[in-house]
Amino acid sequence: MGKALIIGCGGVASAAIHKCCQNSEVFTEICIASRTKAKCDALKEKLEGTTSTKITTAQVDADHVDELTALIEKEKPDVVLNLALPYQDLTIMEACLATKTHYIDTANYEPEDTAKFEYKWQWAYKERFEKAGITALLGSGFDPGVTGVFSAYAQKHYFDEIHYIDILDCNAGDHGYPFATNFNPEINIREVSAKGSYWENGSWVETEPMEIKKVYHFPEIGEKDMYLLHHEELESLALNIKGIKRIRFFMTFGQSYLTHLKCLENVGMTSIEPIEFEGKQIVPLQFLKAVLPDPSSLGPRTKGKTNIGCIFRGIKDGKERNLYIYNVCDHQECYREVGSQAVAYTTGVPAMIGAMMVMTGKWQKPGVFNVEEFDPDPFMEALNRWGLPWKTEEQPELVD
Ligand code: NDP
Repeated sequence: MGKALIIGCGGVASAAIHKCCQNSEVFTEICIASRTKAKCDALKEKLEGTTSTKITTAQVDADHVDELTALIEKEKPDVVLNLALPYQDLTIMEACLATKTHYIDTANYEPEDTAKFEYKWQWAYKERFEKAGITALLGSGFDPGVTGVFSAYAQKHYFDEIHYIDILDCNAGDHGYPFATNFNPEINIREVSAKGSYWENGSWVETEPMEIKKVYHFPEIGEKDMYLLHHEELESLALNIKGIKRIRFFMTFGQSYLTHLKCLENVGMTSIEPIEFEGKQIVPLQFLKAVLPDPSSLGPRTKGKTNIGCIFRGIKDGKERNLYIYNVCDHQECYREVGSQAVAYTTGVPAMIGAMMVMTGKWQKPGVFNVEEFDPDPFMEALNRWGLPWKTEEQPELVD
């Protein structure tokens, strides 16, 4: 079928690349390109001989449009799958425009010096992608990503109007460390230490970090504390799900994680303001990242399950209706299959599927789109086939 250029070779990329190699019919060729080429070469060596996908590797600094453009011109991929960090989104989109190549990512752009992620920077590319005749698919991970596909699916098959969405992200995995993050620590801590917010009746309601706590009984996991956070997909779903009155996002955290985070915040270790240390400028959060366990090393240690899904409330044929769509994933099963824990797996699988949707033309139209703007059915089918089977429950416990 075609060739994907995958940028980044961290935890999420590794899971996505394993999945591309299982799906050789679609991904006949991939090029893995990242800042540290040795990681790409090590992954290539691990996978070669287990797949008929042809794998090449390259070094690239994705902060530079000219380097990216030269790489895309040399490799001539059908799609570019961006699995580096959110800081690189715009440079990679520029290079895709310069070479007229489709673009897919899993996280929206945020400038490195302000911990504020919003779609406005990437949505501003809409007209240029339309004119170039290429597709940009934004946020094709789990959340954002599958949560948007679940929303489009609920809208298409179950509701005339969806009024309320609660997105629940539960990670009940235990890695045995007192404190570690399940994906890139810098991005993760920026996200969870920011103010919370949710969308209600046409505007944003802001909360203090972790101000709103609820307890929920998760299917196949049990009772967990969860906290309201701001999350990327709230912004696009508020626009794309017509008639929506409120959308919230909750994530579970254990007490140990929260106590450590509070302490690190209190001593200034989560700050992104550079400080002078022994004659050198350092960013405390980047230093913290350097001393924390590498998320990709958590795979063998993490036991337990994740449950991520959406609870919808709305109207069908004049009657009230509720629906919960969720996926449960087991950390150890993911590790056995692709060598990563479930957080990387649940992001890497939809990243591969998003790239497949664009590559096969099922999800292709010129412009910049979020996942819920496409037909959810082929993506939902692919989730079942490629390792993230989902369930529906028509009378779920609701979040008050
Ligand atoms: P990692 O830190 O493990 O990996 C990031 C990779 O990007 C590394 O290989 C790194 O290279 C590479 N990279 C960083 N900067 C550059 C650069 N300038 N040029 C080239 N390569 C670069 O991160 P994760 O795998 O945990 O996360 C990847 C992405 O997935 C993030 O954007 C994250 O926000 C997103 N994500 C999305 C989720 C979702 O559900 N939608 C959930 C979890 C994560 P090096 O090895 O040299 O450091």
